[in-house]
Amino acid sequence: MRKPVIGISTNQLNDEDRRFLGSKRIYVNRDYIDCIHQSGGCAVLLPSVMDDIEQQLDLVDGIILSGGSDVDPLLYGKEPSPYCGYVRADIDRYDQALILSAAERSIPVLGICRGMQMINVAFGGTLVQDICHEKQNCFQHMQDRDRMDPQHWITAEPGSFLSASFERRSLVNSFHHQAVDEMADGFIITAVSDDGIIEAMEKEEGNVFGVQFHPEMMGAFGNEQCLNLFREFVNLCRK
Ligand code: MN
Repeated sequence: MRKPVIGISTNQLNDEDRRFLGSKRIYVNRDYIDCIHQSGGCAVLLPSVMDDIEQQLDLVDGIILSGGSDVDPLLYGKEPSPYCGYVRADIDRYDQALILSAAERSIPVLGICRGMQMINVAFGGTLVQDICHEKQNCFQHMQDRDRMDPQHWITAEPGSFLSASFERRSLVNSFHHQAVDEMADGFIITAVSDDGIIEAMEKEEGNVFGVQFHPEMMGAFGNEQCLNLFREFVNLCRK
């Protein structure tokens, strides 16, 4: 049986070897691929070529927006704060177009970490540029422990896409210093941390979902809830 094909948006590294200075390397972390494979999907990588978006979407049954650098504040109508991190404006614009085209074509979209933030921005929402400076009494959301280890609790909204795979109260990892601020129109919050940071969201109509934590990092080490999230998503892409 043909497996659902899941396209993963990619990141870019600049090669620092002196012989290849200026070379750009396109990549994703292997954890995404392993979780999709374990969930019955076939992963393919999508390079950020703006002109190819429609043809890329012809090839896939679902899209996963991977984690990465900070989203360009200019995209959501804010000036960069002194605490905003490195921005790749060209990749942001590609990701935004990819998300909107996929949603338009009813291709399921799952955004992870920066991917969720990118979904919010693509649909008109805004971000907190640095949680520590803009939010009072927040926990440590950039964890200083291994990637598969949980860092904080979340509470999932019953009836949401997330709640199909997650208990109402769950522990998740956390590798972000930005967060969703004003939610885009047409979206609902589906999980929050105990300090009030938005940890999951979904579109009220259409299969567009985001999680702020990294289920692929926990799933790759056997966390069943995180693997079930990928299984739920891959099954949705089968239809
Ligand atoms: Mn967090």
